[in-house]
Amino acid sequence: MLQLSEKAKKVKASSTLAITAKAKELKAQGVDIVGFGAGEPDFPTPEHIADAAIQAIHTGFTKYTPASGTEELKQAISKKFQVFNGLTYQPQQIVISNGGKHALTNIFTAILNPGEEVLIPVPYWLSYPEMVRLADGVPVFLDCKQENEYKVTPEQLAQACTSRTKALILNSPCNPTGMVYTAEELKAIAQVAIEKDFYIIADEMYEYLTYDGAKHVSIASLGKEIYERTITCSGLSKSYAMTGWRIGYIGAPEEIAKCIANIQSHQTSNPNSIAQKAAVAALLGPQDAIETMRQAFDERRQYMRERIQQMPLVRAVQPKGAFYYFLDVSKALTKQLHGKPIETIENLAYLLLTEYNIAVVPCTDFGAADHIRLSYAIAMDQMIKGMDRLEQFLNSLQ
Ligand code: PLP
Repeated sequence: MLQLSEKAKKVKASSTLAITAKAKELKAQGVDIVGFGAGEPDFPTPEHIADAAIQAIHTGFTKYTPASGTEELKQAISKKFQVFNGLTYQPQQIVISNGGKHALTNIFTAILNPGEEVLIPVPYWLSYPEMVRLADGVPVFLDCKQENEYKVTPEQLAQACTSRTKALILNSPCNPTGMVYTAEELKAIAQVAIEKDFYIIADEMYEYLTYDGAKHVSIASLGKEIYERTITCSGLSKSYAMTGWRIGYIGAPEEIAKCIANIQSHQTSNPNSIAQKAAVAALLGPQDAIETMRQAFDERRQYMRERIQQMPLVRAVQPKGAFYYFLDVSKALTKQLHGKPIETIENLAYLLLTEYNIAVVPCTDFGAADHIRLSYAIAMDQMIKGMDRLEQFLNSLQ
């Protein structure tokens, strides 16, 4: 076979999808697996949203739409930006894509020249570095401390800047840590971005999911100068239980949005027409489903906290957003199970899956090789069973 491209050969498969697939496979074989791996709500898409899609099919809304999305959906997103985020993005500043992932890859293609650097706070969502590399950029990792809730500081940013720095990825609420940046913290970060002159890519995919009174703030809403250098990215996957529908979007200065729309017009054309109709119903219809889901996640998060606090060998900062618990298991890695050392996070996850029947995400690919991520987007009875099993595992370590 002829050689594939060097760039393509370096891309790794997404390990979160792999874990979920492995857990599903074991489940299909009849093994009673508790899956803490999922990065998606366990709720169905609300019925009125599904109905809008069915109607779209029956009324023949099944053709190409404008490549960057329909005017109707852009208007709905523009309204949501205004009401929820306090952001003014006109429809021509909005591009709708095939999920948040696609929206993000478009951004990197639009802003990066070969060799330009993108600052990525660690721990990070595993796709960021791969996306940056695919767009010929260079990821620059900034190690964030547990004592600082895994958040990047303005000092770190200022120090990491070089003449090649093009952007910072800011993910709040954060996957995998569950941390939410405060307005004060964002103001300080915005100041550095303005002074050092780089873009902010604000990934706000989990914006509706905050707890303990934490409030989501969009960095672009903090002033004209930061608005002009921010690309705000979000989508319907997590907040509306619409992961399979593939609708994500960006709001950005018009010139950037136009450039992204041009790229998309050649790569994929429009996002699915039917899903766009469903997204309009989601954004303009009743919003109570979001709150119902958020409350259910919150209840599970609190249950998880109580259980984790009782467990030996693990530490966690209480998450305030998204639906993940980020567990520091570095102490467990120094222990043994049945006389054999655990040593690596992959081995720990493997033992949990094969011997204790719980699927967790080992966070090596999130830049944290001594942490695991547990999603609490799972039913309460599963959660209880899974926590019992995790406790048994930890108690068996010597
Ligand atoms: N950003 C973050 C932080 C995510 O966790 C995810 C999905 O897991 C996405 C973006 C992409 O979402 P989508 O499923 O819409 O592509």
